[in-house]
Amino acid sequence: MDALIALLPGDGIGPEVIAAARSALEAVGKRGGHRFRFSESLIGGAAIDACGDPLPPETTKACRDSDAVMLGAVGGPKWSDPNAPVRPEQGLLGLRAELAVFANLRPVRVNPHLTAASPLKPELLANVDMIVVRELTGGIYFGEKHRDETSASDLCTYHVYEIERIVRVAAELAMQRRKKLCSVDKANVLETSRLWRDTTDRVLAAEFPELEVETLLVDAAAMHLLSRPADFDVIVTENMFGDILTDEASMLAGSLGLLPSASLGATKCGLYEPIHGSAPDIAGQGIANPAACIASAALLLRHSLELEEEASAIEDALDAVIADGCRTADLAAPGEPALSTSEFSAAVIEQLR
Ligand code: NAD
Repeated sequence: MDALIALLPGDGIGPEVIAAARSALEAVGKRGGHRFRFSESLIGGAAIDACGDPLPPETTKACRDSDAVMLGAVGGPKWSDPNAPVRPEQGLLGLRAELAVFANLRPVRVNPHLTAASPLKPELLANVDMIVVRELTGGIYFGEKHRDETSASDLCTYHVYEIERIVRVAAELAMQRRKKLCSVDKANVLETSRLWRDTTDRVLAAEFPELEVETLLVDAAAMHLLSRPADFDVIVTENMFGDILTDEASMLAGSLGLLPSASLGATKCGLYEPIHGSAPDIAGQGIANPAACIASAALLLRHSLELEEEASAIEDALDAVIADGCRTADLAAPGEPALSTSEFSAAVIEQLR
């Protein structure tokens, strides 16, 4: 296969983890006889510094011309003034809208070798293996914003078609897994959530009668995620609830540095990124955990390039090096030696060979 992959390293640890993901893609490509070509473009704070625009038109074009897009992370203290007219996150939200990637898949799996890294009791973590499907291009993050001296508002809007398409993505995934789907909303308070629930109930009853369906209010879901995480198979929810619940779920796995994501739309060109941010507290030190970004590269191979064997090879290599005891600083026990970003990445590549 010949594929062009757009790399957007972004800010903070973004360039460090993207370099690791690129090496993993090159290694698995070489092994399978594929030709992966890469372009590299600016986004976020780095793009604001270079040209005053967090999503320059050349970046959008490079992404549109590619088979898939990999992003590191955007943001950092240098650009964090909330009143600044341009902010790094606008680059990311703009890109998601440009690529029309409305479905954000966030797999959360607990590696049995890492249960000690989670604040939860090990017995709660056995067999945790879920995918959170977060609606990505609607809701309060994209609604009209208003601010005056004494008040502010953010409008939350959902349309039936936006709910129908995300519920179908989640239900189809659940059909390939344990056939359990949990829909999360706040239908006791929010009108958008009442529309969410009515639409979800209708689509699931009519099109996916085989699924075991559970509906939870978001506050209860936050609790159940910690009290019975292994019960969940696929969770579907709106934009902001999904954002918050997946950061919470990352603690089941042990570190934000482990969790990948895939953002998919109507075309094959998806956007792949770790769920963590630019981690300014550790940026430039070469100690970031690249596992989430490398695992995002595996999702890219699976969902955009349909290279399932290569995707599994990367996931297996990550599992194998962790089973061998390779740990970056975020996962190392106190006093245990930690690998640098490039040492961890080299171990994964060695495993892939
Ligand atoms: P963060 O995810 O960057 O960091 C939270 C904590 O987790 C930090 O202590 C960090 O060191 C640690 N961490 C994160 N990724 C890690 C990794 N790969 N290896 C080891 N440790 C890791 O969240 P934050 O501190 O709230 O935000 C920092 C900046 O990132 C902000 O500007 C924020 O807006 C931005 N952000 C960007 C994205 C994105 O680009 N998708 C997502 C979230 C936050």
